[in-house]
Amino acid sequence: MIDFRSDTVTKPSAQMMSAINSAPVGDDVYGDDPTVNQLEHMSAAMLGKQAAIFAPSGTQTNLLALMSHCDRGDEYLVGQLAHTYKYEAGGAAVLGSIQPQPIEMNVSGEIDLELAATYIKPDDIHFARTKLFCLENTTMGRVLSLDYINAAGQFCKQKKLAFHLDGARVFNAAVKLGADVIDIVKPFDSVSICLSKGLGAPIGSVLVGSHELINKARRHRKMLGGAMRQAGLIAAAGIYALENNISDLALDHDNAQYLANELAQFDDLMVTYDPAIYTNMVYVQSKSGQFQSIADALLQHDIKISPSKNTRFVLHRDISHDNIDSLITQLKHYYHQVKSNA
Ligand SMILES: *Cc1c(COP(=O)(O)O)cnc(C)c1O
Repeated sequence: MIDFRSDTVTKPSAQMMSAINSAPVGDDVYGDDPTVNQLEHMSAAMLGKQAAIFAPSGTQTNLLALMSHCDRGDEYLVGQLAHTYKYEAGGAAVLGSIQPQPIEMNVSGEIDLELAATYIKPDDIHFARTKLFCLENTTMGRVLSLDYINAAGQFCKQKKLAFHLDGARVFNAAVKLGADVIDIVKPFDSVSICLSKGLGAPIGSVLVGSHELINKARRHRKMLGGAMRQAGLIAAAGIYALENNISDLALDHDNAQYLANELAQFDDLMVTYDPAIYTNMVYVQSKSGQFQSIADALLQHDIKISPSKNTRFVLHRDISHDNIDSLITQLKHYYHQVKSNA
């Protein structure tokens, strides 16, 4: 199966499995799992923050951050299409009693800071208390510029807002910019990273921040059912991923650009991919609106895509250059078939 739906579909390699097999473990709820402790120390150091906490998913590390920055009746500013707002089942509101204030994002995935300022509510009994600003990097495959991130950091300082990064794919951003990830996350008070996307681990995310914030997050993780026992088994895969797989993300970016160029040969397809800001995702629209039937045809040849109005092709370590050529061959067959049936 060649699976373009997401970089979450990557499976652990043989070397990663052997790291899992040889991991020393203990009960992490007692703080006794040496492999989890190692992953947490390593993540904090790599991202330049004081402390870290390991959790089963990025949805949970984002929620831990939101619940640790905000109290009941507080509010966070967030992009209209951001994962923490749109794709986490409303967890901040449902489980944290934290009100989201969604704000339009521009084509680069940025929230305009002057616009954001207009949403900050004055101290008044009518309003929720605006506490936190959230960004996502990369966001829908786009990398945020360092200038924007630093301006947003200044904005948060000035407005006395805490600043959280959903950095599910922040290593894609670092590789794309050729920057140290520490510089990309410097202005943020907390950062959530996913080990289970392009980095290739089967399970797991890490939240980093100050000791104080991470201590709060530990209580929330227990409450949410995310405190695990011999979690070193999965933390070992995360350590392996951080030690070995980050630089490989550049291949995914190269493959995305190659795919975008190849897709451009089809008259029916409108391809969105700007190599200056896009990383491992290519967005494609069909002028004649036939992505569902394209998906059905591709599936016959063991190629999976998630058809939608703006179909996302995601490149990852389990998709090779040859796999992209297979996709293009099948698309040629498909359009040839459509033409001869017309
Ligand atoms: C995948 C993802 C998450 C977390 O997802 P989980 O599936 O819960 O690990 C958070 N933010 C973004 C932008 C993501 O892509």
